[in-house]
Amino acid sequence: MPTPPNLRAWEHDAVARIEADFQRSADTHLIALPLPGFARHGIDLYLKDESTHPTGSLKHRLARSLFLYALCNGWLREGSTVVESSSGSTAVSEAYFARLLGLPFVAVMPRSTSPEKIAQIEFYGGRCHLVDSAAQVYDEARRIASDTGGHYMDQFTYAERATDWRGNNNIAQSMFQQMAHERHAVPRWVVVGAGTGGTSATIGRYIRYQRQATQLCVADPQGSVFSAYHASGDASHTGPGSRIEGIGRPRVEPSFIRALVDRMEVVSDVDSVAAMRVLSGLLGRRVGPSTGTNFTAMLALACEMRERGEQGAILSLLCDAGERYLPTYHDAAWVQQHMGDCTAAQQRMAALAG
Ligand SMILES: *Cc1c(COP(=O)(O)O)cnc(C)c1O
Repeated sequence: MPTPPNLRAWEHDAVARIEADFQRSADTHLIALPLPGFARHGIDLYLKDESTHPTGSLKHRLARSLFLYALCNGWLREGSTVVESSSGSTAVSEAYFARLLGLPFVAVMPRSTSPEKIAQIEFYGGRCHLVDSAAQVYDEARRIASDTGGHYMDQFTYAERATDWRGNNNIAQSMFQQMAHERHAVPRWVVVGAGTGGTSATIGRYIRYQRQATQLCVADPQGSVFSAYHASGDASHTGPGSRIEGIGRPRVEPSFIRALVDRMEVVSDVDSVAAMRVLSGLLGRRVGPSTGTNFTAMLALACEMRERGEQGAILSLLCDAGERYLPTYHDAAWVQQHMGDCTAAQQRMAALAG
């Protein structure tokens, strides 16, 4: 019998390219962050450094998963225009994978997106389509996909299901394995922000699947609807959206799975920026603002544990590096103008961390 022609040659090659790229990648570090005021009470803090992916953020994992999910659903073909609604980081990572597959890529983003992210998307050959508000990105992305006969990736819907939560080297499996030789090998808390909600969903499911006692805390920036939704269960909440890039949304995203989150910690913008600065000082390199949001919640949980005499580990994510935000969150004048005075918050957190 003659071999049948491979009808899916392009798909097969595309999946193989993504897998080969993965094979060439290393895992990200879990950084121990010993803070004397907590360590001597048996409380250890760790950050998984997601800034070291080739495209600079935890969205590298999501973009890989979304492309594989779309390919294996038969949603992409040779020449398909890939369109995404994004606050920036996902689009940077998707532009990388679109280029790997030779597909045109369009990012629909709020006008407020960092110029550095726009430059990176364009560096990978993507096109940026800017809209006035974060709430407009969804419809505009859908429209462009339909006009070009392309595919709307829709991270906000598919993030929670594109990643294999049982394992397959997802972020949860990796961080739990990296804790194996620590004095508290099973973390007491994992703290993450929610943009799509995909990371919190993957970690929450993995904790249950592994039958661990770890609790999951989502650090939610002011202006985001996730904390109100978590409290009420009403998915129709809307809000102004967040001013911390990458996390906090103006609407309840379908990928945010409420039942998996044990606790929400609302963090003010001033605290996020103050914590970003303090943590950057502790690490000797700049982190992004959503990592400051995470660090604020980590400190709050660590203080509670210390008061109760509880010991254990608190893990969170270093979502991206501060270099993307030099003219904004890392610029004192910009912060003063957009967020207000962070000095008092910074002193308070420096004292906690010291
Ligand atoms: C997306 C993002 C998050 C949150 O991750 P999700 O899985 O989308 O909820 C946190 N920080 C940054 C910088 C991000 O881009």
